[in-house]
Amino acid sequence: MLELKDIHKDYPSGDEGKVEALRGVSLQFRSREFVSILGPSGCGKTTLLNIVGGLDQYTSGDLVINGRSTKDFKDRDWDAYRNHSIGFVFQSYHLIPHQTVLQNVELALTLSGVPKAERRQMSGGQMQRVAIARALVNDPDIILADEPTGALDSETSVQVMEILKEISQDRLIIMVTHNAQLAEEYSTRIIRILDGRVTGD
Ligand code: ADP
Ligand code: MG
Repeated sequence: MLELKDIHKDYPSGDEGKVEALRGVSLQFRSREFVSILGPSGCGKTTLLNIVGGLDQYTSGDLVINGRSTKDFKDRDWDAYRNHSIGFVFQSYHLIPHQTVLQNVELALTLSGVPKAERRQMSGGQMQRVAIARALVNDPDIILADEPTGALDSETSVQVMEILKEISQDRLIIMVTHNAQLAEEYSTRIIRILDGRVTGD
């Protein structure tokens, strides 16, 4: 359903210099799998995720979505793809305060008598679960998660991984992680990246 063909991504840097963040990445993803992307800091993991999610443009190559090349995608095509096909989960949650979903969640706590100050202090695990709920609410085909457990303790990380594993039954999950152990245990496929290239799949 998703194919990267020889994707290169250069970022301008210094005087006419460039950083080659991706150096020819070719990958195919199926509609139901739980993919982990492993690699050291700076190897291009976030760049890859952002390109797959249409948040950033590739320099050369092609991203083929459901058989359609994105080379001629216009802004409105990218908007439609981001809004309907993709859900994002980030390490730092990126939640918007005072969102309706939070007020709804909070209502259940109000009714059960949890004091206001306590209700308002969501733990990291709660925030990440709300972030996953937000990523899922449009029922996207693809969930992209960038270090979703990076700020969580090990017990909460396992809870978040269980949720991701469950939702990967009927969609594609691509997760960037530093945690090789969680990747081995929960994902169906591990892709290793080094210096902008795939070194293992
Ligand atoms: P990772 O997520 O694996 O840590 P990134 O994809 O964030 O790696 O970065 C890959 C390389 O591209 C790094 O050398 C980084 O400094 C560079 N890079 C990432 N984003 C930008 C940007 N917006 N401008 C310039 N260089 C960038
Ligand atoms: Mg990163």
